[in-house]
Amino acid sequence: MASVELKGLSKHYGSAAAVDNVSLRVEHGQLVCLLGPSGCGKTTTLRLIAGFIEPSAGEIEVGGKVLSSLSRTVPPEGRNMSMIFQSYALWPHMTVAENVAYGLKIRKLDRSTIDTKLKAILGMARLEALADRYPGELSGGQQQRVSLARALVVEPETLLLDEPLSNLDANLREEMRFEIRRLHDQYRYTTVYVTHDQAEAMTTADLIAVMNRGKVEQLGPPEEIYARPRSEFVARFIGGSNILRGQALDDVRVSVAGKALRTTGRKLQASRPISLSVRQHEIGIGLEAPPVGSDNHLHGVVTRQVFLGSTRDYTVALDDKTELRVTALPSCIIAPGQAVWLHLPAEQCRALAEDVP
Ligand code: ADP
Ligand code: MG
Repeated sequence: MASVELKGLSKHYGSAAAVDNVSLRVEHGQLVCLLGPSGCGKTTTLRLIAGFIEPSAGEIEVGGKVLSSLSRTVPPEGRNMSMIFQSYALWPHMTVAENVAYGLKIRKLDRSTIDTKLKAILGMARLEALADRYPGELSGGQQQRVSLARALVVEPETLLLDEPLSNLDANLREEMRFEIRRLHDQYRYTTVYVTHDQAEAMTTADLIAVMNRGKVEQLGPPEEIYARPRSEFVARFIGGSNILRGQALDDVRVSVAGKALRTTGRKLQASRPISLSVRQHEIGIGLEAPPVGSDNHLHGVVTRQVFLGSTRDYTVALDDKTELRVTALPSCIIAPGQAVWLHLPAEQCRALAEDVP
């Protein structure tokens, strides 16, 4: 096992940068998620790490050795990495046991070593009972576990996963997230995991790199990314934040829609334009007016209300330009057209690091 380090890594296709100056270090035994919307450069980054494509600039080091640079690219088979794709790519004419053992056979290990390793990994992936089945006789989740077992059994230095759960239905996907984290805790392979699914990243990752347009926009542990998004993009992408624009009144207060909001996150400069992020479920909604002169209350009109079972989702217009989403308890029922007051607690109004463009 080894650390993986990307240094100023870029990949251009024509004049477009699929990956744009990405620097990132994954420590030995860590699981890092590349999280971002479709087209942001996740797969390209993974393919660069695997050695399927060559960088336009920058370097990739594994365990301190340069594997990719402008002058030198070690081919995929020389990298001791396992990659799992979105489609599991199992061999249909081989049984589960044959699929999993294949990588050991081509490494010419002896029969008893193969049997021992195979037995251990099938047990770990809970596949013993399915060892003699063919892929066509397995569910999506079972095929996914075979694909994981096949990748792990060869004891790679590095494990690369590209949206491995995207073909599964919602329930199974949730279960498999825990499964992947459990296997990671067991084997501790240095892992780069690509997904567009926030919950998947939160469940599995030690560190999340949020990607946008080929760049890493923020890197940090899940808690930090969630609690302290640095940019508007990260705030919107992670955990459904509203973005409010206003003007700083002093070093903590911002004027939004004619009202003052106390903020957290950083010291402001009076009269500068500021973007704030506030999560939908952190906003209080009610009919009652707040005491005169109290900060952090906004007045608006409900424009939409949707019942979602465990919550009720409101859209509230502050004026003709600004709408906020609010997640309330299902017992809170307010009809569209009704005037309401919103409470945005100061500790939840995060001033974003970026100034308004
Ligand atoms: P993601 O995996 O995050 O969805 P990709 O890494 O697949 O994104 O793609 C990033 C960008 O690079 C996209 O705009 C995509 O169209 C472009 N791209 C990827 N591969 C190629 C290629 N072989 N030729 C041209 N453009 C490519
Ligand atoms: Mg992709």
